[in-house]
Amino acid sequence: MMENRSTPEEVRQNLREIRDRIAEAARSSGRDPGEVRLMAVTKTVPPELVNAAWEEGVRLFGENRAQELLEKADRYAFGPEEIHFIGTLQTNKVRQILGKVSCIQSVNSLRLAEEIQRRAVALGITVDVLLELNIGGEESKTGMAYSQLEKILEELASFSALQVKGLMCIPPFGKNSLETEGYFERMHKIFVDIRDKKIDNISMETLSMGMTGDYELAVRQGSNIVRIGTGIFGKRNYPA
Ligand SMILES: *Cc1c(COP(=O)(O)O)cnc(C)c1O
Repeated sequence: MMENRSTPEEVRQNLREIRDRIAEAARSSGRDPGEVRLMAVTKTVPPELVNAAWEEGVRLFGENRAQELLEKADRYAFGPEEIHFIGTLQTNKVRQILGKVSCIQSVNSLRLAEEIQRRAVALGITVDVLLELNIGGEESKTGMAYSQLEKILEELASFSALQVKGLMCIPPFGKNSLETEGYFERMHKIFVDIRDKKIDNISMETLSMGMTGDYELAVRQGSNIVRIGTGIFGKRNYPA
């Protein structure tokens, strides 16, 4: 497999540049750059290279696959507090990742939330989650439809072992920057609307949006976690 991976030195350089650009995007939109956390997305990246990002001060990592997380976690320089799960999560994998990540960002259905609740109760822990919204209304994408959101939030208000901390999205690919920024703007509006409703057990602290190709637009629209893979570690040889 040929992967166009960065070297550790390139990872350092990429991180410097990305941080500068995040800070610039924040300042130019009147935000404090310190509000935006940089997540390094580690799918298919060997642990040694992931650890190079940690050495460079990255303190948040995103994992997509339960199996890959379990295989790599032992060799990471950091622990579950610094890992969020961001991939599509099958209900039968929930048990494997609980306790191994500090947040599940990709809760995309009530059914998945119920399984997390059930497993977390059994373990006597509470789990932070974000709700993934299908902001583009795409049939091919996972994520909750906006039309379902209010009803799901009402249900989740009574989940004792699950705490909703915010929202996450992956906007449609292949749009121009104006359209993409429009999706992010809409996400931010939904985020603020929910926050203002002050629903039990639902706190809107985290708005996770923006990837390698669009993180500056996301920062301008209020993102406080940008999830970056390719921009830090180089190209993957297959999309995932
Ligand atoms: C892969 C992935 C990212 C990072 O994508 P890049 O374009 O490589 O920065 C962000 N979020 C999710 C959910 C991903 O699966």
